Amino acid sequence: NTILANGESSYRKEDGVPVRHDHWIGGRDERPAGGAYLPTVDPATREPGDEIAAGSAADVERAVASAVRAQPEWARRSGAERSEVLHRIGDAIEAHADALMELERACTGKTPAQLRMEAGMSAAYFRYYAGVLRAHGGRTIDQGARHHAYTRFEPYGVIAAITPWNLPLNQACRALAPALAAGNAVVAKPSEFTSASTLHLGRLAAEAGLPDGLLNVVTGTGPDAGAPLAAHPGVRRITFTGSVATGRRLAGVAADRLIPVTLELGGKSPLVVFADADLDRAVDAAVAAVATNAGQVCSATARLLIESPVHDEVVARIAAAVERLEPGTDFGPIITEEQFRKVLGHLDAARDSGLVPVTGGSAYTGGPAARGRYVRPTVYAGVPPSAPVAREELFGPVLVTMPFTGEDEALALANGTDYGLVAAVWSGDVARGLRLAERIDAGQVSVNGGPLTIETPFGGFKDSGHGREKGVEALHEYGQVKAISLALD
Ligand code: NAD
Repeated sequence: NTILANGESSYRKEDGVPVRHDHWIGGRDERPAGGAYLPTVDPATREPGDEIAAGSAADVERAVASAVRAQPEWARRSGAERSEVLHRIGDAIEAHADALMELERACTGKTPAQLRMEAGMSAAYFRYYAGVLRAHGGRTIDQGARHHAYTRFEPYGVIAAITPWNLPLNQACRALAPALAAGNAVVAKPSEFTSASTLHLGRLAAEAGLPDGLLNVVTGTGPDAGAPLAAHPGVRRITFTGSVATGRRLAGVAADRLIPVTLELGGKSPLVVFADADLDRAVDAAVAAVATNAGQVCSATARLLIESPVHDEVVARIAAAVERLEPGTDFGPIITEEQFRKVLGHLDAARDSGLVPVTGGSAYTGGPAARGRYVRPTVYAGVPPSAPVAREELFGPVLVTMPFTGEDEALALANGTDYGLVAAVWSGDVARGLRLAERIDAGQVSVNGGPLTIETPFGGFKDSGHGREKGVEALHEYGQVKAISLALD
C-alpha cells in the first residue's frame, strides 16, 4: 500500500498499475485473507481507479478482535482525554483535506465545491462531539438522605458502521465521531465503490493519537464483508446508512442478536412553497437540491409542492435555473453504474407512462459529460402523486412538482409517501410555516431556509429509518445508561 506516513496523497497510478488499498486493522494495513481486490471506477470518466481489499469473514474476525482488545482502555479514559484526541482527528482531517478529497474524487467524480463541503463537515463532526462530550454526564437521583443513586453513560463496546457511496467520508464521520466519543471502538465497512477516504481516515486518526484498534476499516462487498460484520457476536450495536432493503435485512440481524441498530434509509423529501413565500429563495433551494451531489443525498428535496397560483411561474424559474447548471462544475455524475441505470430506467418509465419533462429526462449524449455517468437535471411538472417518479427514491438530479390548494392539501401531499426524513416549508406567514412543520411526518423540517446543521438531530420517521444522527441525540445513541444505587447505612 502506498499511503504515505505524513498523510499526503500518494495514491497515484504508476505505469497504469492500479494502487491497492488494504484493510486498516489494529493501526496498520492488513492484506485481505482471501488475497483478492475489487476494482473501482471514476464515474466522471469511466476510467479504472484504485483497487480495494475484498474483505471476508476472516478479515472481519481480525478487525473485531482488534476493536474488542482496544476498547476497554479507551472507555476508562475521562471524557476530556477522549475529547482531546477527537479534536486532533478533526484537525488532521482539515490539514489533509486535499488528500482525502482526492481519494474521494477519484471514485465519485464529485465537484470541487461538493468535496470541500464534505471535508469541512467531516472535520466538524469530530470537533462537535469533542465539545459535546465535555459537557455530557449522568445525573443523580433523589432517594432520600439514606441513599445515593446516580446514572452512568457507558459505551456498548464495539460498533459496526456500515456506510454508503453517496457522501462516503461525511457519512463515516457522522457515525464514527459520536461512537468514539462515547467510548466505543468501531469497525467501519464503507461502500465497496468508495472506500479509500475512510481507509485513509483510519491512518490519519492513528497519527492524531487515536489508539490502535479503535477505528478499524474493513472493505469489501455487503454480502462478503458487511454481513459477517453485522452478525459478529463481538459487535454490540450497528449503525447503517443506505437502502431500505439492506436496512430491513440488518434490522432482522439485529433483532435476532438483540442488539440495537440505527437506520438511516433515505427519503423523498417535500419542499412546500406557498404563494406568499420569498420565491427567489425557495427557487434557489430547489435548484440547490438538484445540484448538491446530483441529488444523491438521502435528505434531498425531490418533491416540490407549490401553491396553485404560483405553480407555473415557480416551475418556469426552476427549469430555467437548472438548465444553466454545468455538468462537472455545478454537479457531478451518478456515482455507481447500477444507480445510473436505475435513474435512467425511472426516466424511461416516466416517458413511457406519458410524462413529459419540462427539462432534462435523459443522460448526456454529447460533450465531455457523455464520457461519464451524468444525468441531465430533470423537472417533471404537475405529476400525479401516485406516479412512481413522485413516490420512489430516485437518488438523482430529478424534481417533480405538484400544485396544491390550501394547507390541508399541502400536508396530505407532503405526508403522502412511505418516507419521512426531511421537509421544507416556505411561506410569508411564519405561523402557517410552523403549523405545517409540526404536522409533517419527518425527522427534520426547515422553515424558510432554516439551516439543518450538525447541531440539529437528524433521522427518519416511517420508512426513512429510526435512531438519530447529529446533535446531542447521536451521542446518546452510542451509550447505554446504567443506574447505580448505594445504601448509605
Ligand atoms: P446498500 O444498502 O446496498 O449499501 C449500503 C452499504 O451496505 C454498503 O456499504 C454495502 O456494501 C452494505 N451492504 C449491502 N448489503 C449488505 C448486507 N447484506 N449486509 C451488510 N451490509 C450490506 O445501498 P446501495 O446499493 O449502495 O444503494 C441502493 C439505494 O440505496 C440507492 O438507490 C439509494 O436509493 C439508496 N441510498 C441511500 C443512501 C442514504 O444516504 N440513505 C445512500 C446511498 C444509497
